[in-house]
Amino acid sequence: MQNNLSSPQALKLLFISTPVGGLGTGLGGGVELSLYNIAKEMLRRGHTVQIVAPSGSLWDEFPIIEIPGNLQIIAQSQERKDPISMPVNSVLGNMWEYARQVQSEYDVIVNFAYDWLPFYLTPFFQTAIAHLVSMGSLSDALDQIIYQVSQAFPHTISFYTPSQGVTFPNLVPPLRYLSSGIDLSQYEFCGKPKNQLAWLGRISPEKALEDAVEVAVKTNIPLKIMGKIQDEEYWQQICSDYPNAPIEYLGFLSTEKMQSVVRECKAVLMTPRWVEAFGNVAIEALACGVPVISYSRGGPSEIIQDGITGFVVEPDSVTGLTDAVSKLDTINRQDCRQQAENDFSLEALGLRFEDWFKAILGRDDSVSRL
Ligand code: UDP
Repeated sequence: MQNNLSSPQALKLLFISTPVGGLGTGLGGGVELSLYNIAKEMLRRGHTVQIVAPSGSLWDEFPIIEIPGNLQIIAQSQERKDPISMPVNSVLGNMWEYARQVQSEYDVIVNFAYDWLPFYLTPFFQTAIAHLVSMGSLSDALDQIIYQVSQAFPHTISFYTPSQGVTFPNLVPPLRYLSSGIDLSQYEFCGKPKNQLAWLGRISPEKALEDAVEVAVKTNIPLKIMGKIQDEEYWQQICSDYPNAPIEYLGFLSTEKMQSVVRECKAVLMTPRWVEAFGNVAIEALACGVPVISYSRGGPSEIIQDGITGFVVEPDSVTGLTDAVSKLDTINRQDCRQQAENDFSLEALGLRFEDWFKAILGRDDSVSRL
């Protein structure tokens, strides 16, 4: 897809999506929203973007080259020392075979997969590959290949946040921290919430939804739950452990519907057991004027201005969460929206990505700023 504003400076970008699910299914988590926003902003800036994703993708705003094949199992379900595994007729392999065939039509290929294969393939491609690493370190084999790419292909590795990047050993600078950004016009401010809390994201053990449910039980404030059930057994366990909790599961909602619920909540709770790479849901909440209460683990602790736009509490402390809930009246919700506008606009995100691509291609003076 090409924007009419294209100029000689315009880049031709090939985005290769995550192989854990089709775009729009929620299986890819925050990386789906990141890819969507980056594509939208790159097009607005006059670049050409082609998205490649697994068959079954649901977006209709962008033309997507859909590639068949079996999905990759999620990295979070594997042990650190597990060998790399791929299914027969792997969609990851198929997407990168497609990229190999068309690579000469593009300036940069952008890898959104948290998988070993695209890093390994980097030296075999003639077109530059930019890797957006979307999770903290989980696998020794992946750590090693990311290290090797950082050594051999300067500028090509980016993270969301420094607290994510630091989980990877031995990386060779320059490294980039791109943060995230959203289309603020899609999130409406609400100054007067109802007496309810929200929790949103993939329902999977590393997100520890049970801690937010416990907060709902202890404070007796209803909890609205939104997101893809990635681990059905885990969800059923929560339902049977807390049969009388004041919770309501609303399903995996579109951004439009999700923000209409979130904005009427007193706060969004984030309860990561892992180092959260970023936490797109945090900036989506802020954009609605909703404070965020999170464990101090990874991205959210860099995003939240403690005591101003939410509270950062001791990891795994439900008491810390409930204490923070009792202090929510001290937060000015306008400050939350303001932070989203100052720090997480799509325009600012687009500039950071453009700088990154130009640095990889050696076309930009941003290299000397690193
Ligand atoms: N999300 C959504 N609908 C829902 C709940 C969540 O679209 O009902 C999206 C949300 O917008 C966010 C993603 O799910 O982009 C969760 O991403 P996050 O970065 O918070 O965590 P990840 O899943 O990447 O670990």
